[in-house]
Amino acid sequence: MNKKGKKMAISKKLLEKYADLIVRTGANVRPGQTVQLVIAVEQHAFAEMITEACYRAGAKKVNIDWSCDAASRLHYLYADSAVLETVLPWEEEKMRQMVKDLPCRIFIASEDPDAMAGIDPHKLSAVMQSRARVMKPYRDAVDGKHQWVIAAYPSEKWAKKCFPEAGDAVDRLWDAILRTVRVNEENDPVAEWKAHTDFLETKISWLNEQGFSSLRYSSANGTDFTVDLIPGARWSGAADVNSANGVSYIPNLPTEEVFTSPMAGKCEGTLVAVKPLSWNSQLIEDFSITFKDGRAVSCRAGKGQELLEKMLAMDEGASRLGEVALVPKDSPVNQCGFLFYETLFDENACCHFAVGMGFKEVLPGGVDMTMEEAGRCGINDSIIHVDFMVGADDLSIDGIRPDGTSVPVFRNGTWA
Ligand code: ZN
Repeated sequence: MNKKGKKMAISKKLLEKYADLIVRTGANVRPGQTVQLVIAVEQHAFAEMITEACYRAGAKKVNIDWSCDAASRLHYLYADSAVLETVLPWEEEKMRQMVKDLPCRIFIASEDPDAMAGIDPHKLSAVMQSRARVMKPYRDAVDGKHQWVIAAYPSEKWAKKCFPEAGDAVDRLWDAILRTVRVNEENDPVAEWKAHTDFLETKISWLNEQGFSSLRYSSANGTDFTVDLIPGARWSGAADVNSANGVSYIPNLPTEEVFTSPMAGKCEGTLVAVKPLSWNSQLIEDFSITFKDGRAVSCRAGKGQELLEKMLAMDEGASRLGEVALVPKDSPVNQCGFLFYETLFDENACCHFAVGMGFKEVLPGGVDMTMEEAGRCGINDSIIHVDFMVGADDLSIDGIRPDGTSVPVFRNGTWA
């Protein structure tokens, strides 16, 4: 019961179960490891639970990076671009320490999707670009070499965005989140996640055995698209392995996708989005993107045309694909039936692509490659990675083998 005597959707027992799932199944914190927790100040009680779960799992030390949407907004409103663009020496030193320590990183997403609404998008992207230029080499250096997980905690503002009319918006968002992460009063979420990841593994092995050289997409909504895959690149999903210590972890809770990085610069045709896209707190709706020679050459949006153009022009790689992901339309996220305004959930609703940075880990030996080396093998590089959904109810995907034969992969939006 909360203060008003109203029954809340989530009990302390459920919260602890969820915190434990994040720490043990998600990040899979091992004895002696350092943990870096990134969480909003409003979620301090949950931060305490996560911290305790980490220490119980044997963590050596848990460090917390507190975030605050409202304060971030004020920085953008009042501080000069040049000030915000500058990465201070201590910030860089912190990144250097991360490269040394390779901590488990736990991110708790609870952002207000409108936190940056009304902030000059040019200022936002300029700051993001400048900071990313300095920070990216450090992020690349730990890529594949540490355990990490993103999970969610519903903030009031986020819940209100999803359910503007509801008096119990937070409870409703909790319900949906717990359903998608397979946590309830009675179940053993660890066992359910084992079964779920085993299922995804069967799809991954099948795709890897097929060795498709390209995928062909078609749907009545106008999607008509072919994308080339990188010979030898692996499909992956669900669990990942930290190459520094061999520990497996699940980077996204929830996750329903099986994905790889396609051959950058090799795709043709039009992709029609089936869900709105929220980028920099602004909505792009009813849109399609047309590719030629692997590059987005035109786009059309019922709402947010300029924003979509800006996104695809963020840098050289922003107009090329970095990810292709297969998700059946009957996923628990899609069954929730509403837009979460949070990629962690929305990308797990149905099949999608991402423009921008690809995943070098999908290449054999890719973890130890520089982005330049991975780029020569076909992995796209960019400062952005933005997912957009194309999984229409009637979507068909065919896998094309190098000899030209084709195999049904998806029919009517789900595994064939
Ligand atoms: Zn994805």
